[in-house]
Amino acid sequence: MRKKFLAVVLAVTIVLGGYPLFAQNEHKVSIALTHQYQVYNDGYFDGKLPKTLLVYVGSARGNAAITVNIGNFNGLFEAEYIEINPAENPIRQEEYISLLHEMCHVSVGLTEFEEHGPKWHQCMRTLAAEGAFDDLW
Ligand SMILES: [Zn+2]
Repeated sequence: MRKKFLAVVLAVTIVLGGYPLFAQNEHKVSIALTHQYQVYNDGYFDGKLPKTLLVYVGSARGNAAITVNIGNFNGLFEAEYIEINPAENPIRQEEYISLLHEMCHVSVGLTEFEEHGPKWHQCMRTLAAEGAFDDLW
């Protein structure tokens, strides 16, 4: 049993180690932020964002936070994961604000992925009106 587990870990390490994204951008899953994503998804997005999306902590490619997408399937945007940079979000409130910011990117889709367009702004205004930021700012 233990040998099998080690073999799986080794195989995963080899596979991920050869994948450029992981080689350049080390990160790890945040259980706490992934849970908070689920709480916000249910509370402010009617559970419509991807339920299995993971939130990582890492360098976020030098940004405060990023949303990484896996492509555009039949016209539908699908986010792969969110990554929060702890160095740029040193306290929990800032992590949560960055998380909500990224969740608006997930919700508005690929058409506005690279910018903060009108749909993204409307998403943030709606969150503010619903009190999502009340204990964060
Ligand atoms: Zn943004």
